[in-house]
Amino acid sequence: MGQDYSIDQMISAKSIAARIEALAREIEGRFGGTDKLVVVGLLRGSFVFIADLVRELDLPVEVDFLEASSYGDAMESSREVRILKDLRGEIAGRDVLVVEDIVDTGHTLSAVVKLLSSREPARLETIALLDKPSRREVDIRATWTGFEIPDAFVVGYGIDYAQRNRNLPYIGEVRLPD
Ligand code: 5GP
Repeated sequence: MGQDYSIDQMISAKSIAARIEALAREIEGRFGGTDKLVVVGLLRGSFVFIADLVRELDLPVEVDFLEASSYGDAMESSREVRILKDLRGEIAGRDVLVVEDIVDTGHTLSAVVKLLSSREPARLETIALLDKPSRREVDIRATWTGFEIPDAFVVGYGIDYAQRNRNLPYIGEVRLPD
């Protein structure tokens, strides 16, 4: 099936790489001296971001994944967050960094932070590649944000529209035909 929408580049691959380098230095500052940082990627949208981020981190890391329900194939977020796939490892007493693709309404990150905090990690911080503050319904902010963006539907760099476009190397805005 063809693609009946176009994509305008919003953030280039080069800008993303530069931002990740800077963020990695901040994360190293915060978690320096950690025994082993558990980096938790929220599936599926964060898989490219987490891959680039961990390779930039000069820290001992363990990588784990959590899948929470999100948009399905639609453009509207559902309010209820369900855990579809839990972590493989224990995080009690560990240093944890949750990696999210986009904080939109904030429901997903807020639910994930609540769940993981209940497991009593030593430290729990969060990082989101993108933040859409104008869409927020829950008062939450990631510890670190890559880029603040306006209220647009974006794809690329791991983020999909109906399971397409995750392989774009940049972040682009979806433009639907009039
Ligand atoms: P929230 O719970 O903060 O409303 O939604 C977070 C999740 O919604 C993100 O992890 C992402 O999966 C999805 N999401 C939010 N904005 C966009 C967007 O512009 N494009 C895509 N593809 N997914 C989005």
